[in-house]
Amino acid sequence: MTPPSDSSDRSTPEQARAVAIVPAAGRGERLGFGVPKALVPVRGTALLTHAVRGLLDAGCVRHVVVAAPPTEVESTAALLRDEGLAADVVAGGADRTESVRLALRHAIKVVPDARVVLVHDAARCFTPAHVIRAVVAAVAAGAPAVIPVLPMADTVKQVDFGGTVLATPDRAALRVVQTPQGFDLATLTRAYAEAGDSATDDAGLVEKIGVPVATVPGHAYAMKITTPFDLAIAEFVLSAGVAP
Ligand code: C5P
Repeated sequence: MTPPSDSSDRSTPEQARAVAIVPAAGRGERLGFGVPKALVPVRGTALLTHAVRGLLDAGCVRHVVVAAPPTEVESTAALLRDEGLAADVVAGGADRTESVRLALRHAIKVVPDARVVLVHDAARCFTPAHVIRAVVAAVAAGAPAVIPVLPMADTVKQVDFGGTVLATPDRAALRVVQTPQGFDLATLTRAYAEAGDSATDDAGLVEKIGVPVATVPGHAYAMKITTPFDLAIAEFVLSAGVAP
């Protein structure tokens, strides 16, 4: 399902200074395989492996840093190495924010001249290469923060704690957010330095420090695999070989 890299789309020197962080240190086993979600297989290969391969095959990411559960650093590194994937694996922290912070610290150490940082969910492991390239290109072109988005297919309601509808936001102004989210290194570093609380959305931290976040078109294949239903869709699309 991950399309081959498009050799006509050569990365610029700025793009070649992109590093990607994959926070995969959660122990969530909600998919029911008895292993953390990042290690759940799709067509026999772990989500994390698909995700790292997708990033490297996009042709514009120089280095990938994965945050794994502290007790799984060696086994995760071995898993990726056995697949021929060059990625650094570091011990993650107590929550996602801490895991990204630790991986970011490592990325800066190993690629000191990094200019673009991507933060990518392992669960969005079939994000097409053209989406990854569009995010990197937009940051390389000067945007401090860039996220891939899709229009909302469903109407969304705001409800109170009892479930009663409070409001119906205008769907035309809403977007579903995907990853990789891309940042100018200095912007992401500052956002994490100033972040007090934990976040599920890195762009949200950047918004909090008053930096504008730009958008590029996302893709249905960048869906987050969260439920057994999502997993079944991914298995089907992969086995059907449907190009994005
Ligand atoms: O558990 P949750 O769905 O919030 O996790 C979101 C992402 O953050 C997952 O990819 C998970 O592996 C990652 N994570 C992490 N470090 C943690 C907790 C979660 O990297 N301590």
